[in-house]
Amino acid sequence: MIRKENRYYDVYPRIVRAGHEATIHIRPLYGHCRFDDDQTYVVTILPTEGSIGQSTWSDHWEASLRPSGGFLQVRYPFEGEQEYALLVRAADDERRAVLAEFRLYALENDLYHRRPFKGDLHIHSAYSDGWESPAYVAGASRRIGLDFVAVTDHRQYAPSLEAMRAYEDVEIDLRIYPGEEVHPPGNPVHIINFGGRWSLNEQFATEAYRAEVSALEATLTDLPPGVDRYPYASCLWCYDQIRQAGGLGLFCHPYWLSRHRYDVPLYLTDLILERQPYDALELIGGYHRFEIESNALQVARYHDERVRGKRIPVVGVSDGHGCERGELFGWFYTIAFAPSSDLPDLIESIVDLYSVAVEALPGETARAFGPFRLVKYAQFLLREILPQHDELCVEEGRLMLAHAAGDMRAAAALRALKGRTPALYDHLWDPGK
Ligand SMILES: [Zn+2]
Ligand SMILES: [Zn+2]
Repeated sequence: MIRKENRYYDVYPRIVRAGHEATIHIRPLYGHCRFDDDQTYVVTILPTEGSIGQSTWSDHWEASLRPSGGFLQVRYPFEGEQEYALLVRAADDERRAVLAEFRLYALENDLYHRRPFKGDLHIHSAYSDGWESPAYVAGASRRIGLDFVAVTDHRQYAPSLEAMRAYEDVEIDLRIYPGEEVHPPGNPVHIINFGGRWSLNEQFATEAYRAEVSALEATLTDLPPGVDRYPYASCLWCYDQIRQAGGLGLFCHPYWLSRHRYDVPLYLTDLILERQPYDALELIGGYHRFEIESNALQVARYHDERVRGKRIPVVGVSDGHGCERGELFGWFYTIAFAPSSDLPDLIESIVDLYSVAVEALPGETARAFGPFRLVKYAQFLLREILPQHDELCVEEGRLMLAHAAGDMRAAAALRALKGRTPALYDHLWDPGK
């Protein structure tokens, strides 16, 4: 939901650089919230975490300003990386009623130069056990505000390519990448190959797979006695293949309770979390409401492993099996903080711990999980910035679905819309002059 102030006013920039001054523009968009050029307004800026030299919460920064041409401009030295509240009042109002409240965020350089990209790295089409064509899954993914997606059907790579081909002749801002859910024979671990240039599933019938995994098994002499070495050797082979193919290998839903037991035996989960052959963990997985405790377990386990010194890249995925079922689809996703939505940038950013997993259940406040610094920033984005981004995506998604349905006019309309989400971010990010 877009907060009403963010609809009534155009406030920019809202993402600024920590340690720099920035000029914030506050421009009413409609008649009901106009500023009067003959009136004085008081602008108050409050760093939510306090600032250096601020001894009590009664200390705050205030400026009395006259609008010019109907909008206010305020210059403020943003000290450290945190969220700031900006309040506007009329100077002659003795009750000091707040006319409007806005939120800004100052970022250190590393995050400032990255943009948030929402994506789903694990979702199914009708080629496996989902409901819709790959083209439909991609169009529907844009409609709910995703910036990137890969269709990852069980044992099949081709559907992801079909999703890409469906839109290769139209101009869209959604990035569609190859992918598959990998099921090595005799290995209970589910693995996602996100973005890899070739399929793993197609290789399991080959002699080469058996021979290479046998060679890996022979090196695993330090596994606990009695443990079958094959499943772990098979995982090692898969994650290595995915990296060679330029993809990101996910360790899927470790605490999924399937038919009265966890899908992966605990010894294998322990081994994978200890030795970390994967690239990223599905921290928040696509669980139905009755299964949601599996996500609680994954998050708790993640924190325990982090305390033990593990460095764990995380993603959130819907594992959706139908975009119109009213479940899973859109409930869980990843925010990657990356220089661009190009595949190598997304993968590198996730591996470098610049991502959070998001749970956005219908009717509930969206919650981000992952490193504290990014969760704090993500919660701001989910409240203040991403709702506007998502609204721009609705129209593009609808037109993508129209194009997939054969509407000849959709391509021209998509061309006209191209670039709207990047333009929103360019507008909201301090240009840094
Ligand atoms: Zn699975
Ligand atoms: Zn799946």
